[in-house]
Amino acid sequence: MDTDDARPGPARLTVFSGPSGVGKDSVIELVRARAPWVWLSVSLTTRRMRPGEIDGVHYHFVTRADFERHVREGSLLEWAEFAGNLYGTPRGPVLARLENGEPVLLKIDLQGARQVKNTMPSAQFVFLAPPSFAELKRRLIGRGTDDAETIRHRLRHAEEEMAAEPEFDTTIVNDFVERAADELLGLLGSRVVVS
Ligand code: 5GP
Repeated sequence: MDTDDARPGPARLTVFSGPSGVGKDSVIELVRARAPWVWLSVSLTTRRMRPGEIDGVHYHFVTRADFERHVREGSLLEWAEFAGNLYGTPRGPVLARLENGEPVLLKIDLQGARQVKNTMPSAQFVFLAPPSFAELKRRLIGRGTDDAETIRHRLRHAEEEMAAEPEFDTTIVNDFVERAADELLGLLGSRVVVS
């Protein structure tokens, strides 16, 4: 990917990642309530909409064909396959917000974070960690009605994701969600007035 067109603007780009089940969404929800000036990128996904999700707000829900067209056209900053579905970050809106001085937050998986590290190394990379692996295990297993094979797969994946922590600039431990949100908020930076 060409790095020249991925120059960050005056505001800070933060990549927020961490193992599935660690609680990224709850932390982000609090950050958004406290800091409405932070812009959370809206990803494209091919997965089905969950109850309560709104197209264009939580994700842009697209078909696989549409997603593949975006990949071909090079309009995604990064993309990855996760649990059989495709997810990607539209590049244009991220660059426009940064140019406009708005702190931008990307909630993406590890594969995506690694791609952004290649194309926009000046971004800051934040890892959300569980208080312990045992606690993450408890959250993943306790999620619902999945069969043993699905749970095994999820735990293996979580282990791989946990091992990537040293690749990140900062780790936030999600011991208490309010505390974790405060810490993330402190890292995001404020709005920059573009003259
Ligand atoms: P969910 O389906 O639960 O909303 O998200 C599943 C995973 O996909 C999460 O780990 C989330 O961070 C990741 N994800 C969401 N959007 C993107 C994206 O645009 N790019 C990448 N690489 N991962 C994403």
